[in-house]
This record gives sequence, structure tokens and C-alpha cells, in this order.
Amino acid sequence: MANAGDRGLAGLEAERRRLQGQLAAVGDFRRGSLTASYRRCGRPGCACAVPGHPGHGPIHLLTKSVQGRTVTRAVPPGPALEKTRREVDSYKRFKAVVEQIVEVNEQICEARQLAHPQEAAPDVQWEAR
Ligand SMILES: [Zn+2]
Repeated sequence: MANAGDRGLAGLEAERRRLQGQLAAVGDFRRGSLTASYRRCGRPGCACAVPGHPGHGPIHLLTKSVQGRTVTRAVPPGPALEKTRREVDSYKRFKAVVEQIVEVNEQICEARQLAHPQEAAPDVQWEAR
């Protein structure tokens, strides 16, 4: 990441506004990951009993970790699956933009400190009674 002095405070603030705009545009999102699962039914005559057969499916599962517990639920194929896929992808985008906002905020803090060094030393004011 570039040094805080490279872009200047105004440039960094503009970048933060741009990222905040992106954040507002993320839309619906949800945590978790989608996986496709296949299984064998166990009936002797079924095609899935043949070696090499992938098994019945796919069954799409949305899995997420909530306070250390893994929660899984099935998502029906079709529009619900596409919607869930979009929402899960949006969460990844949300996290990526938040990470960038944190980064640019830290650079803003540094740049402001350089521009107004007296504001970085509030302890001095406590001594004036
Ligand atoms: Zn079967």
C-alpha cells in the first residue's frame, strides 16, 4: 500500500468517499459458503450403487459458522440458489470494501497527524489547569 504522504489528505478523503459509495451499493448479502453435495441412496439396484457413479444430487448446502457452531441448510435449485449465490458473493465484496475502508482510514489518521501534529498530543492539554 502506498505511503500516506503520496496522495495527500484530500485524495485519501476522496478515496474514502468513493469506497463508502461502493459499500452502499453492495445490496443484500449473507455469510456462509455454498457447497454441492452428492449421496448414495443405498438401494441395491440403483444406478448410484455402480462404482464411479457420483451419487444423487447435487444438493446445495449453505454453511456458516455462528459462534463456533456450524449451521447448514439446504437451498433448493433454481432462482433461490442463484439468489443465495449472489448474496454470498456480495458478502465477500462487502468484506473486501470494508477492509479497504479500514486501510484508507488508517492512512487518513496518519496524514492528519502529519498535517496537524499538535492534535496528536492531547496529553499536553491536561497539564494546563
Ligand atoms: Zn441411488
